[in-house]
Amino acid sequence: MNPAPDKTEISGWLREENPERLKELWQRADETRRQHVSDAVHLRGLVEISNFCARQCAYCGLRAGNTNLTRYRMSAEEIFTAAQQAVNFAYGTVVLQAGEDYGIPAGWLAEIIQRIKGETPLAVTLSLGERPDGDLAAWRVAGADRYLLRFETSDRSLFDAIHPPLGNKQCDRIAILRQLREFGYEVGSGIMVGIPGQTYASVAEDIALFGELDLDMIGIGPFIPHPATPLGADRGKFPAAGQEQVPNTELMVYKAVALTRLVRPDANIPATTALATINKKNGRELGLQRGANVFMPNLTPLKYRRLYEIYPAKACITETGETCNGCLTARLHAIGRHAGRGAGSRLDRRIAALSAGKELCHA
Ligand code: SAM
Ligand code: SF4
Repeated sequence: MNPAPDKTEISGWLREENPERLKELWQRADETRRQHVSDAVHLRGLVEISNFCARQCAYCGLRAGNTNLTRYRMSAEEIFTAAQQAVNFAYGTVVLQAGEDYGIPAGWLAEIIQRIKGETPLAVTLSLGERPDGDLAAWRVAGADRYLLRFETSDRSLFDAIHPPLGNKQCDRIAILRQLREFGYEVGSGIMVGIPGQTYASVAEDIALFGELDLDMIGIGPFIPHPATPLGADRGKFPAAGQEQVPNTELMVYKAVALTRLVRPDANIPATTALATINKKNGRELGLQRGANVFMPNLTPLKYRRLYEIYPAKACITETGETCNGCLTARLHAIGRHAGRGAGSRLDRRIAALSAGKELCHA
């Protein structure tokens, strides 16, 4: 087995343009994916439970400063109905995602999590921003299994420039990821590729950091400019990095996904909606053939779907859950893959490997 690439090799691959050489990278990532997480594609039903957000991220259309956006928050019953739909489609996981919305009280959401865990076989993943430790702990006690919080970029000064603090509390997403692990969550993070000011060297650092943090889930998507945000309206306002600037292209995302698979062979890696947005025809299939093993069909009720506008022209904003599900099954079949059964957690895979006497991968 090839050893995982180090930072120098990662940088080299990120700059590689030769299609023949890149074919080698795709094959290596695909083979590693097959060996470590099989041909199953785990489906996580995504429910965007609120588009309120207290934050002012310079990249995101949900930022509090975007006053043109109509805001919504789903009711407990709506969230439960969407989770039920995930069960009907045999998805193993429901992902509850939102802006950092303090109108969602911790206790209210804890009751919903408890109900989903009590009445369905679903794993529950949360993606609700930098909530206080007490909220994160309460949701874990209520039964939530996993938490997603992208660090977006490991370049501290770039992160500070695009992700202002809330009040005077400094943001430290890496520290929160460690805290989540202590609470017993499976932990996911990730980055956007092609943020203005983001360099090749910093993306190589990001990918190496995925390995160091031993992440269970890793989401990578292109940065897509939103005109109602500082980064979308005026990209020149942020430090351009000349030759060092990483482009926000589809190809660069595939490279980052493939390298991430080599660095974290048994992680769950989605073919992201952002990737499907910049290549609606076959972006998700190519992602799945270049290292990814997860897809997140959207189960948000249609009346809210277009309001969760992180970036414009998002994929799948007019399809119902049924349509998405049918389309997905056909797409997986066409590339010789199949929907995974059960929760598809990395932890379960590791326990099964240990009990079968196999060595765990520590790439
Ligand atoms: N509020 C939570 C948070 O920030 O973690 C969860 C929801 S947030 C919308 C989910 C992810 O969307 C972010 O982590 C970020 O990577 C991604 N995102 C936001 N704006 C984006 C943009 N313009 N292009 C691509 N991805 C974007
Ligand atoms: Fe809010 Fe998350 Fe968007 Fe930042 S990325 S504005 S925290 S929804």
